[in-house]
Amino acid sequence: MLESCPRCSSRLGPPLKTGRQVCAECGWSSAPMRSRTTPPPPPKTGVAHIVQLCWRIVQRVVRLSIAWLKEKFQGYQETRANNSVKPGQVMAGLSDRLSALEQSIPTSPKAPWITPEEAFEALGGQIDNPNSVVRTVNGQAAVSFARFRVLKSEAEWRAFGFEIDSIRRDAGKSWIRQLG
Ligand SMILES: [Zn+2]
Repeated sequence: MLESCPRCSSRLGPPLKTGRQVCAECGWSSAPMRSRTTPPPPPKTGVAHIVQLCWRIVQRVVRLSIAWLKEKFQGYQETRANNSVKPGQVMAGLSDRLSALEQSIPTSPKAPWITPEEAFEALGGQIDNPNSVVRTVNGQAAVSFARFRVLKSEAEWRAFGFEIDSIRRDAGKSWIRQLG
Protein backbone atom coordinates (compact mmCIF):
# COMPACT_ATOMS: atom_id res chain seq x y z
CA MET A 1 0.00 0.00 0.00
CA LEU A 2 1.36 3.37 -1.05
CA GLU A 3 1.02 6.53 0.99
CA SER A 4 1.52 8.98 -1.86
CA CYS A 5 0.84 8.98 -5.58
CA PRO A 6 3.93 7.98 -7.60
CA ARG A 7 2.86 10.37 -10.36
CA CYS A 8 1.94 13.58 -8.56
CA SER A 9 3.00 12.82 -5.00
CA SER A 10 -0.44 13.63 -3.62
CA ARG A 11 -1.51 11.82 -0.54
CA LEU A 12 -3.38 8.61 -1.43
CA GLY A 13 -6.36 7.34 0.37
CA PRO A 14 -6.83 3.75 1.50
CA PRO A 15 -7.15 1.08 -1.22
CA LEU A 16 -10.54 0.40 -2.82
CA LYS A 17 -12.42 -2.83 -2.34
CA THR A 18 -10.71 -4.26 -5.42
CA GLY A 19 -7.32 -3.63 -3.80
CA ARG A 20 -6.40 -0.81 -6.15
CA GLN A 21 -5.32 2.62 -5.04
CA VAL A 22 -6.53 5.61 -7.00
CA CYS A 23 -5.19 9.16 -6.89
CA ALA A 24 -7.95 11.72 -6.49
CA GLU A 25 -5.72 14.47 -7.91
CA CYS A 26 -4.40 13.03 -11.18
CA GLY A 27 -6.36 9.87 -11.65
CA TRP A 28 -3.43 7.51 -11.31
CA SER A 29 -4.41 4.05 -10.24
CA SER A 30 -2.35 1.13 -9.10
CA ALA A 31 -2.35 -1.98 -11.24
CA PRO A 32 -4.85 -4.65 -10.29
CA MET A 33 -3.40 -7.09 -7.79
CA ARG A 34 -4.07 -10.14 -9.92
CA SER A 35 -2.22 -8.92 -13.02
CA ARG A 36 0.80 -7.21 -11.61
CA THR A 37 3.22 -8.66 -14.10
CA THR A 38 3.29 -6.52 -17.19
CA PRO A 39 3.68 -8.34 -20.51
CA PRO A 40 7.17 -8.09 -22.03
CA PRO A 41 7.59 -5.37 -24.64
CA PRO A 42 6.93 -6.71 -28.14
CA PRO A 43 10.08 -7.31 -30.19
CA LYS A 44 11.02 -4.36 -32.26
CA THR A 45 10.12 -4.95 -35.85
CA GLY A 46 9.43 -2.90 -38.86
CA VAL A 47 10.83 0.29 -40.24
CA ALA A 48 11.62 1.86 -36.84
CA HIS A 49 13.78 -1.08 -35.89
CA ILE A 50 15.63 -1.04 -39.25
CA VAL A 51 16.25 2.70 -38.95
CA GLN A 52 17.55 2.25 -35.41
CA LEU A 53 19.88 -0.53 -36.53
CA CYS A 54 21.15 1.55 -39.44
CA TRP A 55 21.77 4.47 -37.13
CA ARG A 56 23.73 2.29 -34.73
CA ILE A 57 25.81 0.94 -37.61
CA VAL A 58 26.50 4.45 -38.90
CA GLN A 59 27.54 5.54 -35.42
CA ARG A 60 29.85 2.56 -35.09
CA VAL A 61 31.43 3.20 -38.49
CA VAL A 62 31.97 6.84 -37.62
CA ARG A 63 33.53 5.92 -34.27
CA LEU A 64 35.82 3.40 -35.95
CA SER A 65 36.81 5.88 -38.65
CA ILE A 66 37.67 8.51 -36.08
CA ALA A 67 39.71 6.01 -34.08
CA TRP A 68 41.50 4.87 -37.23
CA LEU A 69 42.26 8.44 -38.28
CA LYS A 70 43.48 9.28 -34.80
CA GLU A 71 45.81 6.29 -34.83
CA LYS A 72 47.10 7.22 -38.29
CA PHE A 73 47.68 10.79 -37.27
CA GLN A 74 49.51 9.80 -34.09
CA GLY A 75 51.67 7.37 -36.07
CA TYR A 76 52.46 10.14 -38.51
CA GLN A 77 53.42 12.47 -35.71
CA GLU A 78 55.62 9.83 -34.10
CA THR A 79 57.34 9.16 -37.41
CA ARG A 80 58.01 12.84 -37.79
CA ALA A 81 59.32 13.06 -34.22
CA ASN A 82 61.68 10.15 -34.84
CA ASN A 83 62.94 11.47 -38.13
CA SER A 84 63.67 14.95 -36.90
CA VAL A 85 66.93 14.74 -35.01
CA LYS A 86 67.30 17.48 -32.47
CA PRO A 87 70.46 19.58 -32.31
CA GLY A 88 71.13 18.36 -28.77
CA GLN A 89 71.15 14.77 -29.97
CA VAL A 90 73.60 15.64 -32.74
CA MET A 91 75.97 17.17 -30.25
CA ALA A 92 75.60 14.27 -27.84
CA GLY A 93 76.24 11.77 -30.62
CA LEU A 94 79.26 13.74 -31.79
CA SER A 95 80.57 13.97 -28.26
CA ASP A 96 80.18 10.19 -27.80
CA ARG A 97 82.00 9.49 -31.03
CA LEU A 98 84.80 11.90 -30.21
CA SER A 99 85.30 10.39 -26.76
CA ALA A 100 85.33 6.88 -28.30
CA LEU A 101 87.95 8.12 -30.75
CA GLU A 102 89.97 9.60 -27.90
CA GLN A 103 89.82 6.27 -26.04
CA SER A 104 91.03 4.41 -29.11
CA ILE A 105 94.16 6.57 -29.32
CA PRO A 106 96.78 5.33 -26.84
CA THR A 107 98.12 7.99 -24.51
CA SER A 108 101.73 7.07 -25.23
CA PRO A 109 102.44 5.50 -28.58
CA LYS A 110 103.93 2.06 -28.29
CA ALA A 111 107.34 1.34 -29.72
CA PRO A 112 107.40 -0.76 -32.85
CA TRP A 113 108.02 -4.51 -32.73
CA ILE A 114 111.65 -5.34 -33.46
CA THR A 115 113.95 -8.34 -33.77
CA PRO A 116 116.62 -9.41 -31.21
CA GLU A 117 119.26 -7.94 -33.50
CA GLU A 118 117.49 -4.59 -33.59
CA ALA A 119 116.95 -4.73 -29.84
CA PHE A 120 120.64 -5.38 -29.25
CA GLU A 121 121.61 -2.48 -31.45
CA ALA A 122 118.97 -0.28 -29.82
CA LEU A 123 120.90 -0.72 -26.58
CA GLY A 124 124.09 0.35 -28.31
CA GLY A 125 125.46 -3.15 -29.01
CA GLN A 126 127.20 -4.31 -32.19
CA ILE A 127 126.04 -7.63 -33.55
CA ASP A 128 129.21 -8.18 -35.59
CA ASN A 129 131.48 -7.61 -32.61
CA PRO A 130 131.54 -10.64 -30.26
CA ASN A 131 133.04 -8.47 -27.52
CA SER A 132 130.24 -5.96 -27.68
CA VAL A 133 127.89 -6.15 -24.70
CA VAL A 134 124.69 -4.42 -23.62
CA ARG A 135 123.70 -3.72 -20.05
CA THR A 136 120.51 -4.20 -18.14
CA VAL A 137 118.52 -1.11 -17.26
CA ASN A 138 119.98 -1.09 -13.76
CA GLY A 139 123.45 -1.61 -15.19
CA GLN A 140 124.18 -4.66 -13.00
CA ALA A 141 124.48 -7.20 -15.82
CA ALA A 142 126.08 -7.10 -19.24
CA VAL A 143 125.62 -9.65 -21.99
CA SER A 144 126.95 -10.28 -25.47
CA PHE A 145 124.63 -10.76 -28.39
CA ALA A 146 125.15 -14.55 -28.19
CA ARG A 147 123.59 -14.49 -24.74
CA PHE A 148 121.22 -11.62 -25.42
CA ARG A 149 119.46 -13.37 -28.30
CA VAL A 150 118.58 -16.41 -26.16
CA LEU A 151 117.01 -14.52 -23.30
CA LYS A 152 113.87 -16.46 -22.47
CA SER A 153 111.60 -15.10 -19.78
CA GLU A 154 109.65 -11.88 -19.82
CA ALA A 155 111.51 -10.86 -16.67
CA GLU A 156 114.87 -11.22 -18.42
CA TRP A 157 113.75 -9.09 -21.32
CA ARG A 158 112.18 -6.58 -18.96
CA ALA A 159 115.52 -6.23 -17.22
CA PHE A 160 116.86 -4.86 -20.51
CA GLY A 161 113.83 -2.62 -20.94
CA PHE A 162 111.86 -4.78 -23.37
CA GLU A 163 108.55 -6.54 -23.47
CA ILE A 164 108.03 -9.63 -25.58
CA ASP A 165 105.13 -11.31 -27.35
CA SER A 166 105.64 -15.08 -27.54
CA ILE A 167 102.71 -15.45 -29.95
CA ARG A 168 104.39 -13.09 -32.40
CA ARG A 169 107.69 -14.93 -31.86
CA ASP A 170 106.08 -18.31 -32.59
CA ALA A 171 104.47 -16.78 -35.67
CA GLY A 172 107.89 -15.71 -36.98
CA LYS A 173 107.15 -11.98 -36.60
CA SER A 174 109.29 -9.39 -34.86
CA TRP A 175 108.34 -9.87 -31.24
CA ILE A 176 110.34 -7.51 -29.04
CA ARG A 177 109.22 -4.05 -28.07
CA GLN A 178 110.91 -1.36 -26.04
CA LEU A 179 108.98 -0.50 -22.88
CA GLY A 180 107.70 3.05 -22.70
ZN1 LIG B 1 -1.77 11.53 -8.46
